[in-house]
Formats: sequence, C-alpha cells, structure tokens
Amino acid sequence: MTESIRPQPGILKIALYQGGAAHVAGRSDAVKLSSNENPFGPSEKAKEAFSRAVHTLHRYPGTDHAALRGAIGEVHGLDPDRIICGVGSDEIIHFLCQAYAGPRSEVLFTEHGFLMYRISALAAGATPVAVRERERTTDVDALLAACNTKTRLVFIANPNNPTGTMIGLAEVERLARGLPPQAILVLDGAYAEYVAGYDGGAELATRLPNVFMTRTFSKIYGLGGLRIGWGYGPRAIIDVLNRIRGPFNLSAAQQETAEAAVRDQDYAERCRAENARLRVWLTEALAEHGVPSDTSMANFVLARFADEAEAVACDGYLQSQGLIVRQVAGYGLPNCLRITVGDEASCRRVAHAVGQFKGSR
Ligand SMILES: *Cc1c(COP(=O)(O)O)cnc(C)c1O
Repeated sequence: MTESIRPQPGILKIALYQGGAAHVAGRSDAVKLSSNENPFGPSEKAKEAFSRAVHTLHRYPGTDHAALRGAIGEVHGLDPDRIICGVGSDEIIHFLCQAYAGPRSEVLFTEHGFLMYRISALAAGATPVAVRERERTTDVDALLAACNTKTRLVFIANPNNPTGTMIGLAEVERLARGLPPQAILVLDGAYAEYVAGYDGGAELATRLPNVFMTRTFSKIYGLGGLRIGWGYGPRAIIDVLNRIRGPFNLSAAQQETAEAAVRDQDYAERCRAENARLRVWLTEALAEHGVPSDTSMANFVLARFADEAEAVACDGYLQSQGLIVRQVAGYGLPNCLRITVGDEASCRRVAHAVGQFKGSR
C-alpha cells in the first residue's frame, strides 16, 4: 500500500471491540454468561414474526420504520415521530457521533463506561474523554467539571455496563441542566427494562431539548443476534440523525420481529421478574463465598476479587468448569469479572464454581 493512502485521523486509535467469548475448547456444554444475553431468548411471538418474514425476502423493506416506531410509541407512550430505529443501539450511538462530534470536539463518557462511545467518537474524528466515577458510579459533578466549549456529547449508560450501578433521575436532570449549551446528554437505556418502574429517561428526553435516549432489543427482548435498537429525543435531533441513516438500514425481518417483541410486554415482564429474583440470589451466593459486588440494577453482576491475579485465576477455573464470564480489564476493572444472570441452573453452577475456587485458596 502506498504511504499516501491513510485513514482519517483517529481511526487507527480504535482498538477492535472484543465480544464476549462463546466457547470453551473441548466442551460442548459450556454456558455463556459473558454478553448479558437473555437466557430465555426472545418471546414466541417474536420468533413467529421472524419465521413469517421468510416469505417476503425478495421485497425491499420500508424505509421509515413506521409500524415499528408506532408500536414502540404505543407501548412506551411516546410520539413515534421522535423515534429513530437502527442496527442495534450501536448504530444510533454512531449516528450521534457522526452528526454532532468531529475534529476539535470532545465526547465525554464515564471511566467504566461502554466501549462503543470511545470507538464511535474516534471514528468521527472527535476526542474521547473518560471522566472518573465515584465508587463505580456515575459522578455528575465530575462530568460537569469536565465540560468545556468543545464538549458536544455526554454519554451515560443508566444502569451502566459493566458496573450495574445507576443514578436517579433527579441527578440525571441536574447533569442535563448543567451542560454547556452546545452539548447533548445521551442516556443509554440498554438495561432500562430491568429496572421496575423506570422509563429510561424518556420523560426527561420529552421535556428537555438537550436529552436523547437510546434503547435496544438486544437485552431483555433477547434479540442481540438480530441487531435492532432505537433512539428517542427532540425532533430536531431525530431530523438530523435521519439524514445520515441509510434508508434500508433495517431489514423487514428486523422491523417485524422487533415490533412483535415490543408488543409482548407480558413476556418482557416475566423476564424482568425472573432476572430480579435470580440476581438477588446470585449476588448473595457470591457474597457468601467472599466475593462482593455493588447492587446491580441490570442483568449481570460485577463480581469483585482481591486483585487482578485472583480475578484472572477465577476466570480460568470457571472456564475449566464450562462457564464463560467476562474479564473487564478493558473497562478499567482488572480485579472484577462480569457475570450475566443466566437461568436458575446457570446461576447455581457459577455460584458453586466460584465457591469451589475460593475454597481452594
Ligand atoms: C449491550 C449494550 C448496548 C446494546 O447494543 P446493541 O447495539 O443495541 O446490541 C448498548 N449499550 C450498552 C451500555 C450495552 O451494554
């Protein structure tokens, strides 16, 4: 390749995203607890909608996602004209960075925040800025102190991945109101459905001109493999994002399956309740084995070990037992392992194995 052919500044600073491992060599019964997937999969209604889509594969999909936006709007009580759908919430995050950040601008996120914010900021040529947290929790004062005239986007996941912690809506509103006038607060609500009675910040995004919310079908709806997400916020921002969205970004199968999934709120509620029950059980079982964690509001637990060596050794032991969890050194948490709340049998297996590991030391 010639020396003159070079990508835009920032691109080569992007470290490739490492997904959660899915296999252990030599084991066919391994349980994947590394990607915060719904252990029960999608609702039957969503699966039926996906099967029906096979009959129209030769047709181009609709470009305005009207039926899906209408269903989301109905279920959440939101104006469908203020909703945009994308290839996972990852694509919405990408649109936001492409449209609002760029060279000489800064994109803020928290110390242990989701890696996609950094990747999308760099892809847009912007400068990513990680802001310290307090006890693995978003620190509004630290974020406000990090803002300046170059700040264009501030991302917080609430609840956050991989910490599982969240801040209250009064704190979120204080952050939104304290931002410089050119900055947008993006509330990543990937895990919002796991918090009973929480709207993901939808009401704030309805009321304030600088608040935008992202959501996904990858977590509680069990459709990570199909790649569907959505965003909601001020009309002016939706209008901007739609200009850079590919008209055919979502296939008919994606749109129809997501619509069936969001309409099946009974199923989502059952998944939420089962996750809450098993999360408490897993948290307490780990604590009894001397492995503490913060109170998680999501579908995973961030297990804390004495140090990095112990976390890595425990991960190795779990793998030998066919249990795949996530090392989170890349998130600045080298002494922790993130464990997805699986079904009851998986929770029992992982708690038992952690107990065996701790007992052998
Ligand atoms: C899993 C996750 C998402 C979802 O991404 P998709 O592209 O919708 O699959 C978004 N944000 C956070 C913080 C997540 O953990």
